[in-house]
Amino acid sequence: MIKRLFRISAYLVALFIFFFILKSFTPKQDFSILIQNGFILDGTGNPWIKGDIGIDGNRIAEIGNLSNKRAGITIDAKNLMVAPGFIDVHTHCDRQIVEVPTVDNYILQGVTTVVGGNCGGHPFPLQDLFTALEDKGMSVNFGCLAGHNTIRREVMGLKMDPPTDEELDQMKILIQKEMESGALGFSTGLSYLPGTYSNTSELVSLVSALIPFGGIYTSHIRDQGKKITQAIQEAIEIGEKNDIPVLISHIKLAEDSVWGKPEMITGPVEKARDRGVEVFLDQYPYTATSSGFTSSFPSWCFEGGREKFLERLKDKDIYQKIKSYIIERRLTSTKNIDKLKTIYIACSQHNPEYEGKNLREILVSQNKEPSTDNAVDLIIDIEKNGGANGIFFQMDERDVEYLMKLPYTMHASDGGVQIVGNGMPHPRNYGTFPRVIAHYVRERGVIKLEEAIRKMTSLPAQTFRIKERGMLREGMYADITVFDYRSFKDNASFSDPHQYAQGLQYVIVNGKIVVEKGVHTGKLPGMVTYGPGKKQEEENGNQDRTGNS
Ligand SMILES: [Zn+2]
Repeated sequence: MIKRLFRISAYLVALFIFFFILKSFTPKQDFSILIQNGFILDGTGNPWIKGDIGIDGNRIAEIGNLSNKRAGITIDAKNLMVAPGFIDVHTHCDRQIVEVPTVDNYILQGVTTVVGGNCGGHPFPLQDLFTALEDKGMSVNFGCLAGHNTIRREVMGLKMDPPTDEELDQMKILIQKEMESGALGFSTGLSYLPGTYSNTSELVSLVSALIPFGGIYTSHIRDQGKKITQAIQEAIEIGEKNDIPVLISHIKLAEDSVWGKPEMITGPVEKARDRGVEVFLDQYPYTATSSGFTSSFPSWCFEGGREKFLERLKDKDIYQKIKSYIIERRLTSTKNIDKLKTIYIACSQHNPEYEGKNLREILVSQNKEPSTDNAVDLIIDIEKNGGANGIFFQMDERDVEYLMKLPYTMHASDGGVQIVGNGMPHPRNYGTFPRVIAHYVRERGVIKLEEAIRKMTSLPAQTFRIKERGMLREGMYADITVFDYRSFKDNASFSDPHQYAQGLQYVIVNGKIVVEKGVHTGKLPGMVTYGPGKKQEEENGNQDRTGNS
């Protein structure tokens, strides 16, 4: 018996020594991933430096000359740009990120963090979405705003009246709840239902619910045309009265009557910044907008819901009133532009044959005269049948470029998660970030590359208080995008939108390779980026979970 025990222990000792020797002969690994010889753009707006980046776990461990260090995976980034992963603060990814956690159309632009819940809409309650994402994982990091339209609808339905004191309190309680779940702030969509029914004092009061937490107020403002200055002033007032930062969403001069007048935007914004109000803008790099046709209608016609809307249409006078409103808002040009050619159907469940066609083309295909009158009837008919998403060419290229150059404008897509082949979405869903670099930096020289990268990384991270991301620094999360500056380019167009960009080489999210030589690896290392109201210990729990998916 003793002999046998002795034999076993001798065997164990031998085994131990064997592994010890083996280990000392295996070369020591300094990093899990080493990116070598890249042009490093750190995200601050500084021009590139040459160097290497070592990643350990989900963090950047070292930046510098690391040529004598070893790593599990080595990426040769010779002649490639190495930048922080892009951060898109204006998306609607909250709608489909659970169904499509690979978020291909964003990751394949080099985007590593998206913010949903914009323009006043978010999935309620946020906690359910966060829990689902924590369980399932996703390829990008995801943060979310709480939306006014969602909250108002929960409490008041489609009521047009101002809220009672009780309703106001209830809405504030829901905002508080969403902030505690980890919302990054509060968004409005004031040309959508039911947000369009609210007045400034309701919004000042609701945003006061953010004060104990911080967070940001973002707004799809009431008017992006003739009354844009007032609309911006309203957003500033709402933030200023509560000492909360303000971001004006998808900034644009959206009517040809105001083209060439960017001072209508920069005037109120810069005055506010001069007196110490934090105001920023986000912008997508296209001259066409995209939204549901519902927002082309007067908001009163939807009061009380769909049934009421259909009933109202039967009244001839009301029908005429709606018609004149849409003509004024959508079909009038001060520059003799044929508006029927500028409005396209992007997605319609009821009339998929309309998708990709403009109003003129649809009317011609129906053997109808392509008149303004018939076009409005068509728009109303589409809405009657459940509505559709449209694409509206309503901006001037010169204004897009002017607004892009402002130091407080950041790039963002206003898109959402897409499935290849579904409908005819706006190409911004696939092309925003590569398009800025290909078209506005490389071809047009509107801004410098390092400035474009700043507007895609550290500026949005700082504005939304997204911590430890948006810059290449030792200790920060390893969110890194590697691309070939000479060939990086958007391929999505209005007529062929489901096209991924070219020239993207690697995307690393939290230290995991999600794009390798331009191909999605299917990995889901994204984290929820919680806002300031989320309790600390829960956030730490989340951090432990990640890094192993
Ligand atoms: Zn919007």
